[in-house]
Amino acid sequence: VTRLADAIRHDDLRRRNRALVLSAVRRAGTPSRTDIAQRTGLSHSTISAIASDLMSEGVVHAIGVQDQVARRGRPQVSLGLNRRAASIVVVVLLLNSLSVALVDYAGATVAETSRRLDTQALDGASLKAEIERDVAEILAQAAGDAGPLMRIVMAVQGVTDSAGRRLMWSPITHEADIDFADHFETVFAVPTTLENDCNMIAVAVGWRQPEIFHTNFVAILLSNGIGMGLMLKGAPFAGSHSSGGEFGHMIHIPDGARCRCGRNGCVEAYAGNYAILRNALGQDARAEPMADIDQETMRRLAAAARDHEGLEREAFRAAGNALGFALGSLFALIDPAPIAMVGPGTSAFDIMEPTIRDAIARTAGGQHGPSAPIEIYPDENSLIRGGAELTALFHLDDKVFAPGLTAGRQVRNQASLMA
Ligand SMILES: [Zn+2]
Repeated sequence: VTRLADAIRHDDLRRRNRALVLSAVRRAGTPSRTDIAQRTGLSHSTISAIASDLMSEGVVHAIGVQDQVARRGRPQVSLGLNRRAASIVVVVLLLNSLSVALVDYAGATVAETSRRLDTQALDGASLKAEIERDVAEILAQAAGDAGPLMRIVMAVQGVTDSAGRRLMWSPITHEADIDFADHFETVFAVPTTLENDCNMIAVAVGWRQPEIFHTNFVAILLSNGIGMGLMLKGAPFAGSHSSGGEFGHMIHIPDGARCRCGRNGCVEAYAGNYAILRNALGQDARAEPMADIDQETMRRLAAAARDHEGLEREAFRAAGNALGFALGSLFALIDPAPIAMVGPGTSAFDIMEPTIRDAIARTAGGQHGPSAPIEIYPDENSLIRGGAELTALFHLDDKVFAPGLTAGRQVRNQASLMA
């Protein structure tokens, strides 16, 4: 029993160190052995041993150091990820748009397609068929150009289940509870996960600005609706049964303005584009929300709000107020955290920022601790796609290549010993 426990501990350590090395290579691109040592804290001899295993497994390769290999008889660890070690498919389904990409293990796009799709007119079965068509097409396009397909990740606008299998509810289609992950796993025979779009935004922001966005932070999507990706202790938050994080449907004013979700008084019913437009036009707060508002309309409202006092300026202030108090409430729970403001609504962020900061400062969550840094990311689509891609690649690094094939065999042998 003791020897078995030792073997398992040794396996854990080996797996952890291999994960550290893979993560350092993914972050740095083509790091030298010294770079990897600095990033991981591992010794040069440990790194050399791991690098040599990973190279013989075809997960990484040495770059431009052939003569040193010959001279010292041991590969020098200036390492890059091997593009052909694996490939992944990234599907992004949003209101009226579908994009599908085949991405290699190093993160380069091999093939992609993107098109307009009238999602609200389609039910679950038709959505699946449309996605299948595009996935099959890019797989055919890339035939022979890519490593083995090892994972499919699908990011979708809406509430997903916390297991990453089903779309529970979404504003982009009238059908609820669609089993996308199970379906594509059956069709393509590859592990598949379903992810909430705003959580993917948070993952991407953490990758782009790790010096600001690490451990705990929030990404707020400002669009027709209001979404949130919440990163807690370095992982995207999910609830006990759903993706959770429905920041836009926290109650700002009980029984207040009409929300797209059918309830009244949600944050989104004050801060979503439709709410800003409704207030700027002086309409009744219970007027039904508009489905899709073009950017030009929002630009005109913002220009008027910058220019003079009036309904437009008040509408953006009401939006800033709702966002600020909701952030303050969130910070009362998790402490102040850096904020990424994302999406088309950020073009009017300058108008809302004073109200947002003032509202946060008036809450318990905003009173203690430093004021949270706010960064602006106007293009949400590249973040959704990027975060989905990273989620699948991190999984391959950590759960497939770090344990390695040999480790997998050992674990199975141990299991049969125990049986
Ligand atoms: Zn709502």
